[in-house]
Amino acid sequence: MDYKLSEEELELKEMARDLANKRIYPIALEMDEKATTPDDLIAECAELGYFGFTVPEEYGGLGMPSTSFMGVLQEFCSASAGFGILFSVHNSLICEIITNFGSEELKKKYLPVLATGEKIGAYCVTEPNAGTDVAALTTTAIDKGDHYLMNGTKAFVTNAKYQGVYIVFAKTHPEEGRKGISCLVVDGDSEGITLGKHEDKCGIRASDTREVSFDDVKVPKENLLGNLKEGFKMALMNLNSGRIGVSFQAIGIAQAAFDEALKYSKERQQFGQPISNFQAIQFKLADMATRLDAGILLAYRASRMKDAGEVCQRQASMAKVFCTEMANFVCNEAVQIHGGYGYIKEYPVERYFRDARVTELYEGTSEAQRMVISRDLIRE
Ligand SMILES: Cc1cc2nc3c(=O)[nH]c(=O)nc-3n(C[C@H](O)[C@H](O)[C@H](O)COP(=O)(O)OP(=O)(O)OC[C@H]3O[C@@H](n4cnc5c(N)ncnc54)[C@H](O)[C@@H]3O)c2cc1C
Repeated sequence: MDYKLSEEELELKEMARDLANKRIYPIALEMDEKATTPDDLIAECAELGYFGFTVPEEYGGLGMPSTSFMGVLQEFCSASAGFGILFSVHNSLICEIITNFGSEELKKKYLPVLATGEKIGAYCVTEPNAGTDVAALTTTAIDKGDHYLMNGTKAFVTNAKYQGVYIVFAKTHPEEGRKGISCLVVDGDSEGITLGKHEDKCGIRASDTREVSFDDVKVPKENLLGNLKEGFKMALMNLNSGRIGVSFQAIGIAQAAFDEALKYSKERQQFGQPISNFQAIQFKLADMATRLDAGILLAYRASRMKDAGEVCQRQASMAKVFCTEMANFVCNEAVQIHGGYGYIKEYPVERYFRDARVTELYEGTSEAQRMVISRDLIRE
């Protein structure tokens, strides 16, 4: 398999880097401090097609393969991971699950408005008492003839505040446990939806995260995504996309931290010379660059396998666990290379260090990835 980027992939990545450098990076610290993302930047990205990057052209998107989107995501996350995750969830989870599992009617109704950014997507799986144990979710969607009646609370919902389109995993058959989970598309402006408070986070602060409660929300029958009672299977399948997406978020953060650390090591003088002259610093840089490259290779392998329609659950989990732990290692070392200055907000490595932490938690923790990988190995 060729992990080299094609001409087109490189060009798209370059364009995203240009936008990231000019428009996203300059306000990254402000977005982090204010814990928000300006509407005009979102509108600009919508104009450029970033909300419909992987949506098929017939539904108003750019119809790009998801590997091309991964390069874009990496560049956005290098500039601001909190900003990048908005697109990661919207494209890799929401647009993709509707494209893969939606009826023609659902695709025509939701993909065009998602592709233009008129509606922003949010993914609702986690609940206050159901995290890694997805099957324990208690949100219900009970068949009432012409609609489902949804009740329950989802936790940690990225992009919830936009109240665009929610993909909700709920039990249509509560007595059947994980086999009773189905997946529904819910309009954000439906009556009975309440947003919780904005979560005040350690990192990716530009990203909005909050609880969403569904209180007797009527969901039309035709908004069932995929088949009834296949929600658990769909959630697992869609996780591959999410995990590959988080791998590239982590690569973006790590690349930015590495670049800063390399630059700083050549500028900072101690004992009358740049600290990059010291072997202790050189070896840190060597380890950081090596792990970064290894992460990039694992992530592109998984992404290309997914685009080729191959089974890639193990490879997606390997990429996710390696890239996210790599990002935490690289950011930690980048702070170390900056000495005390790395602990100060004026230096971007402080933000990268905080932003990297969450990548080991969401879309399945590192422990969950190791469970997936080891089960797959043992089963084989
Ligand atoms: C910023 C942020 C954004 C998020 N965005 C979304 C979103 O948009 N949509 C969404 O649905 N969710 C979202 N999440 C939720 C995220 O996916 C969960 O936090 C994650 O799945 C872990 O669940 P939990 O927090 O309940 O931890 P728990 O499942 O309670 O885990 C706690 C610890 O126990 C370990 N553990 C649990 N079970 C096992 C086991 N069987 N064996 C070994 N160890 C185990 C875990 O690895 C972890 O270390 C987000 C989370 C954050 C922090």
